[in-house]
Amino acid sequence: MAKYVCVNQETCISCGSCGAIAPEVFDYDDSGLAYVHLDGNEGRSEVPEDLHDDVDDACEECPTDSIKTSDEPILVPKD
Ligand code: SF4
Repeated sequence: MAKYVCVNQETCISCGSCGAIAPEVFDYDDSGLAYVHLDGNEGRSEVPEDLHDDVDDACEECPTDSIKTSDEPILVPKD
């Protein structure tokens, strides 16, 4: 099944967990907030299959439930 992911930067506390678990997917902006660097955190790029487990682990470990996954594009609106 396809997987899409994005980070809610409104609730991210910059703990660093997701980037440690899945550095191929998550990075941090200048403020230290996580984002999905596959697609600039827009939730529109399919996560490569070999990274699905890492994304699920990062999602489970996020202390603020800021990582959203879906089997369809999430399409986060740009500011
Ligand atoms: Fe932010 Fe959650 Fe990633 Fe921590 S694990 S940096 S709170 S998105």
